Order: sequence, then structure tokens, then C-alpha cells
Amino acid sequence: MTQNLECNERLNGIQEKIAKAAKLAQRKAEDVRLMAISKTRSADEIRTLLDTGHRLFGENRVQETAAKWPALREAYDDVEVHLVGQLQSNKAEDAVQLFDAIHSLDRSSLVKALAKAMDKLDRRIPCYIQVNIGEESQKGGCMIGNVSDLLETARSAGIDVAGLMCVPPTGVHPAPYFALLAKLSKDNGLMGLSMGMSGDFESAIKLGATYVRVGTALFGARP
Ligand SMILES: *Cc1c(COP(=O)(O)O)cnc(C)c1O
Repeated sequence: MTQNLECNERLNGIQEKIAKAAKLAQRKAEDVRLMAISKTRSADEIRTLLDTGHRLFGENRVQETAAKWPALREAYDDVEVHLVGQLQSNKAEDAVQLFDAIHSLDRSSLVKALAKAMDKLDRRIPCYIQVNIGEESQKGGCMIGNVSDLLETARSAGIDVAGLMCVPPTGVHPAPYFALLAKLSKDNGLMGLSMGMSGDFESAIKLGATYVRVGTALFGARP
């Protein structure tokens, strides 16, 4: 019960911040969707959030999602789970089955694998191209200069690209990276912007985020 209350309070607090940031940017709060990042969280912790009425979640691993979510989907209506972690091509079919959207499309080999999986399962889910916005060698994501090509490859394979996604470099102010992702998205005629996490979602909203991906601010520190 206290866990429920705490969770509710955290959720309300974040929603208030989202509303405030949207208002400052002269945007509608409804145009910003809060994705609860539930990686490493137990089914019980997730249920606490589901019981508040929240329905949109993000996970970063196929296997963990396969273990947790089928039962939760049986118990709650209208659940949406998005993939926000790197995807191996050999898990494309599992991913298309388990997720409602993929925020980590980052290479043409994955386009091929996903298109094949979607055809086979006769299930189409929207994808976001993950951009390596800080051009960091250790980070996943498509290089900035390759975004248009990857977009074209995905579209000709019949994949619905709904927007762009990024995780900016740590330790520096994220706003210039959010602004750059927004510009890239606009230049490519895309609408969706998946950007902003616990520490910077307000800044991301001011710069156009349509999805903010929040974990620790909702659930507390990860173990
Ligand atoms: C873990 C993760 C998040 C959430 O991070 P928090 O700092 O806990 O809010 C968001 N996006 C991605 C891609 C993640 O892996």
C-alpha cells in the first residue's frame, strides 16, 4: 500500500513536470507520452504502476520482456511495451511479437530482419531510428550522416518509421543534442522524437520530445 502511494506520487510529480515543460514550450501535454522504463524491475513493481492506470512501458531486453510481460498483458488491458535497447537481428521475430514499437532501429541489416519478421508474423509495428547523436564510438545508433539512407532503406522495406530516438552523451548538457535530433527529424519529415530520460526529460520536451523515457525517477534507483 505505501509502495502504491509512493509510486502514485512519483508518477503525479512527473506528469506535473511534463505538463509544465509542455506549457512553457507552448505544446500540449497530451502530445508528450511518458514511457515508464521498467528494465530490471520485477513484475510486482510494474503491477504497482499498472494499478495507477499507467499503460506505456519500455524495456531494453527481449528475453526479460518475454519473461515478464505476457502474464502482465493478460492481466491488464491496453498495455503498450516499446523496445528501447539494442536488438540483435536473430531476435527480430521475438521482438516483433513482444513489442508494440521499436526505438532502436540502427542499421540496414536490422531493417532486413525486421521486415522479414513483420511479413512472416503479419504484424506491423512502428519503428524509430536510433541516432548516435554524440557520434560516440562505444554507443549504439546510426551515424548522423546515415539517417536519410537508413530511413529510405526502411521505407522501401515497408517499415513504418515514426521518428528518431537518441541517448545523448553523459556528463554534458543534453539540450544541444536534443535540438540536433529535432532538426534531423524535421529535415527528414518525421514527427516522432523519442528523447529525454529521468534527468533531462523537461529539456527534451522543450525541444520537441513526443516520448520521454523515464526509469529511475518513477521507480527509484535501479539495483
Ligand atoms: C534505462 C534507459 C532509460 C531510462 O533511464 P533513467 O535514467 O532511469 O530514466 C531511457 N532510455 C533508455 C534507452 C534506457 O536504456
